[in-house]
Amino acid sequence: MRVKCVICDKIEALDDESIIAKRLRNRPIHTYMCADCHDRIRDKTNARIDSGNFRLYRTRQEKDEW
Ligand SMILES: [Zn+2]
Repeated sequence: MRVKCVICDKIEALDDESIIAKRLRNRPIHTYMCADCHDRIRDKTNARIDSGNFRLYRTRQEKDEW
């Protein structure tokens, strides 16, 4: 089956027997995300976690100054 990435509109061919294809048959095709966009979103999530850690680290630094 062919699926279209919801973010970059890239068309990809999926093996009909793959888990992703079976899952997509029960859900709307527009929920599909290609590997590139999946990685990009994962990186963004990691960046958000990093900024959270940075805030935590700064709070600890402020405490150390006392
Ligand atoms: Zn994509």
